[in-house]
Amino acid sequence: AMGRWWMVLAVAVMGMEADVSMCAYADLQSSPHFSFLPKHHAATPNRNGVRPASVEDSSRNPWKLPATSLLALPRLLGTWRDSPQTRACGIMLAACTAGLWTSTGQRFLSRLLPLGLRGRRRRRYLGRAAPVKAENEEERTQYQALPSVMTWNQPSNFLQGRKPELVLEATLPAMDGPETFYGLGCNETEFKLFLDYIAGTNLRAEEVHITSKYVDTQDENVRAMLRERWNSRHLLLKNKSSKNVMASDTRLVAEVKGYLKRMESFESEPMKGATLLQWLEEECGDELIQRCRADSDLSTENTQRALKEFLDWFKKEFPYYDKKCFHCEHAEGERLGSIRASEEEEEFLASRSEILRCPSCSRFSRFVRYNTVSKVIETRKGRCGEYSMLMYHIMQALGYQTRWVVDWTDHVWVEVDMHGSWLHLDACEAALDNKKMYVAWGKQHTYVIAFVRGACEDVTVDYVDDMEEVRKRRDLTDEDLKASLEIAQAEFLQELASKS
Ligand SMILES: [Zn+2]
Repeated sequence: AMGRWWMVLAVAVMGMEADVSMCAYADLQSSPHFSFLPKHHAATPNRNGVRPASVEDSSRNPWKLPATSLLALPRLLGTWRDSPQTRACGIMLAACTAGLWTSTGQRFLSRLLPLGLRGRRRRRYLGRAAPVKAENEEERTQYQALPSVMTWNQPSNFLQGRKPELVLEATLPAMDGPETFYGLGCNETEFKLFLDYIAGTNLRAEEVHITSKYVDTQDENVRAMLRERWNSRHLLLKNKSSKNVMASDTRLVAEVKGYLKRMESFESEPMKGATLLQWLEEECGDELIQRCRADSDLSTENTQRALKEFLDWFKKEFPYYDKKCFHCEHAEGERLGSIRASEEEEEFLASRSEILRCPSCSRFSRFVRYNTVSKVIETRKGRCGEYSMLMYHIMQALGYQTRWVVDWTDHVWVEVDMHGSWLHLDACEAALDNKKMYVAWGKQHTYVIAFVRGACEDVTVDYVDDMEEVRKRRDLTDEDLKASLEIAQAEFLQELASKS
């Protein structure tokens, strides 16, 4: 009987501890010294221009307690370890607490709770923020557009994207005075190695002082600052798309225009058409190239067979570059991040260069993302970006009407017009006529858009099984997407005309 009482007491103590730690968590979140915690409440003021005094978080499970509640456990176990009942009770408590950390455990427990308690507990107090008045008319308008009650249940909550990002900063001594470099998304070790690479020597730890700061990359001032640092080649970006952290225009229209510009740059490629065809015949053999040509007398089936043969040759000669060391061929280089390509590299339309460090020979490799045929042929290092560009030019040289297909989940390939229907060709995978292969990979497509010079078309439906699923993932409706593509094409053509 005593064991049961111990259990009741223990649960009561745990409950108290939980409440205390919830408050502690809330306080932590409102403290400026703990910027590593997501600051849900410290966001934007509400529609009256005043920050709400409290923000209720209704989707987060109240049972997901912070680590502090676990602190109660050793105390409980330490005091009552001496009887088998209390030991069992302790083990049960530990198991329950551990179970509460899993979402299934939380769901299970919240179902067991009486409804009233569940309703009361679900609203969690997240902390206090000092009321802030709108500074000016513009801010007031902005705030008025916001929902007055902020909850995490809203489908696209404006707070959810605002996670602070860590920026590392260090100043290196240089010939023309000290220069400051920045790292976004990388850790200190990677940043230090990047500084080693920049300095060209092994820096001694005491020579360089790295400071860190959290920034909000949704803030336009922060984005402008990152853009400036990127443009001056002082920013290392690790696993970050520049669009997400520094683009001045994040609309789909802007992205599509960017790809239309890239397509336009293909036109000024010096090594295309006959020159490229000659190179192909020398490298790959006259006979196969003749069979691959659009104007050969072969049947569709035989042409496709030849193209497949060619893709296999291509994949062997142009293997997918991952992270192999340029010096010792060690396969597992560490990717430190990317910086903007140098002026010389930009002449070959490179936008950025990846910096890798070899754990075996400690040397650095610089993988330049070139975008011209001659450079990719010379280096034979590329990923889908480089190889789809090269394949586009090759297919054009073979006489096919070709389009360049961009998948918004980070892949790109080409399609050629094969007697009136668009045939899929993926240079990285040596894949031909296999549009559903990406679904088999588990890709969650959002937009797949085919580009020709000055125009584009949404071709997602060709590449997916379930278009309804895709629509749920998209942030634009079909009409908005259509309109966006039209606006992008119109704006692009207008800008092109005004340039010439
Ligand atoms: Zn190496």
